[in-house]
Amino acid sequence: MAKNVCESVRGNRPCGNPVIPGSKYCNNHGGHAVIRSREKMEKRQYHIEKYNQELDARIKGFEEHSRLTSQIDELAILKALLDNVLSQCTQPIELLSHTPMIADLVQKVDKTVCNIHKMQKSMNMLLDKQVIAEMISAIIDVVTEEINDPKVVKIIQARLKDILARDE
Ligand SMILES: [Zn+2]
Repeated sequence: MAKNVCESVRGNRPCGNPVIPGSKYCNNHGGHAVIRSREKMEKRQYHIEKYNQELDARIKGFEEHSRLTSQIDELAILKALLDNVLSQCTQPIELLSHTPMIADLVQKVDKTVCNIHKMQKSMNMLLDKQVIAEMISAIIDVVTEEINDPKVVKIIQARLKDILARDE
């Protein structure tokens, strides 16, 4: 039996009507409804995924910010420790005996500064995207004001939004 006939059974006999493409049933047995409900679910799924992506981006922003803050705190502590050690070394012999500790602290300061620079750089890149979003919104305003054909305006808006939606 061909696959593109309705699976619904009437009495003992299968319906046998041609199916609505994309469903297992004919028009009389709910083929359209099956497709409609699937489309509805796909649309819902799409919105859920989009929402989750936005949420992830926002959480990532928070995390980055708090990581940066903790690194800045760390740097302040390391600097204080280093100052403390150095101020204790009034004699060259003391400086010598503290050298491993000083070297360790200097290395930690260096690493922390490096981390902070990296984080600030990636956060600036995020900020750039926000600036682009604002620019595109301003361009859409100009287009809406200057072009009288609503069809053309809609097309331009959609294309600009597509550009913004691109990941990289
Ligand atoms: Zn049928």
